[in-house]
Amino acid sequence: MPGNARRVRLFDTLKREVISLEPVDGRTFRFYCCGPTVYGPAHIGNFRTFVMQDVLRRTLELGGMKTKHVRNITDVDDKTIRDSVAAGRTLEDFTSEWRDKFHEDCKSLNCLKPHLEPSAVKHVPEQIEMIRELEAKGHAYASDDGSVYFKISSFPEYGRLSQLNTRELELGKTQNARANSDEYDKDNAADFVLWKGRRDEDGENFWESPWGQGRPGWHLECSAMIRKYLGDTFDLHSGGVDLVFPHHDNEIAQSKCSCGGEFARSWFHVTHLRVDGRKMSKSLGNLYTLEQLAEMGHSANEVRYVLAGGHYRKPMNFTLDSLKAAKEALTKLAKAASGRTAPSYKSLIKGGDLGIFAPAMTKLNEDLNTAGALGEVFGNLKAAESEADWFGFFTVLAALGLELPEPEAIEVPEEIQEIAKKRWEARQAKDWAASDVFRDELAVKGWVVKDGREGYEILPL
Ligand code: AMP
Ligand code: ZN
Repeated sequence: MPGNARRVRLFDTLKREVISLEPVDGRTFRFYCCGPTVYGPAHIGNFRTFVMQDVLRRTLELGGMKTKHVRNITDVDDKTIRDSVAAGRTLEDFTSEWRDKFHEDCKSLNCLKPHLEPSAVKHVPEQIEMIRELEAKGHAYASDDGSVYFKISSFPEYGRLSQLNTRELELGKTQNARANSDEYDKDNAADFVLWKGRRDEDGENFWESPWGQGRPGWHLECSAMIRKYLGDTFDLHSGGVDLVFPHHDNEIAQSKCSCGGEFARSWFHVTHLRVDGRKMSKSLGNLYTLEQLAEMGHSANEVRYVLAGGHYRKPMNFTLDSLKAAKEALTKLAKAASGRTAPSYKSLIKGGDLGIFAPAMTKLNEDLNTAGALGEVFGNLKAAESEADWFGFFTVLAALGLELPEPEAIEVPEEIQEIAKKRWEARQAKDWAASDVFRDELAVKGWVVKDGREGYEILPL
């Protein structure tokens, strides 16, 4: 680990305890995040997960750790095919529009670009190769309809990540059950599809394979791309909690049975963003996109503040009021730091004394306690003085990926300007009684004047 590294600890879904994150190769922390399914705009629930993954990366980097961040684009699955066919567009034309939109949203949320962003469609040969290996090793079998399934009874560890009830794994219950759809739940543990035989509703979206025409099942893409870009053993794998089962348990099965490595050494899952007590999701129709929120006057930075402000393992209920509070909090930070320029991310990464904000960074390093870190920042804001303090302040903000807003220009009505002018003139003439009358008049109308040596500033009360 580099000399100035501060250790980051995180709750590991598999071990079910907080562990230290250290790169297996001793140099670079290599991690994978399941990326978006590009069939519509991502909602801010999706972005809770992507923002927290970004906070993890930033916290590692600002602690002196090098990272390699791989995140895929799911551009072939049940949903992308269904919707592109319905829209009468090619899969590529359809998904590239939503991929670009996703990138735009990531940029406005200040998420760092992953070092690699492979697409599933461009890795079909790698996926076919993995199925061949699984078949050769007795972990996969072809069915009559040209599909190929993973045989979960061939992998005794199956379901460990999600703590799948062993009862459900009793052979009698699972041997005849198969899941052909990309998504299913824990109550239906079943042999899952690796290759889907061509069906009419897939339109032109099929590939040639040793099992005939068809397309890969959804779970396979991550296993194949991880193998190619991160190898058989890497440091951390991540997604929202809905991916623990079946997606991540299936990835483990595919990868361990074909490659034989350890696969992910640790797992990071982000709890769902909820609305009115239910998971924000496209299927429930209770979602907000960045675009919708921008139309309502809320900046992406404010959205990020809300998403990053709660602990990733705690439920978060989204409300529009939380965005208002975020705006106020960001304005307060901006005011405190007014006149100071944030050092570049590169120079913050080089590290240094964090002054009175060192404890805020310690909070982040300990299981990404973002709420605790923000508490420390606000608690010490008034005491910030030295260069080290401000370096620490900007380091914590950079870890959270927050930018300080420009102060908003305040429009002062002419009538108010007139009264303020009269007050100033009275003061120049040392007519304190008149000056006080004008001051009170301004206060009644909701304004206050701050005097300086050269002039005055009119502010809302
Ligand atoms: P998808 O585009 O559906 O594949 O999801 C992209 C990422 O968003 C995955 O890591 C999901 O687990 C995550 N996700 C989906 N819904 C939510 C939510 N309401 N809150 C947090 N993360 C979510
Ligand atoms: Zn995945």
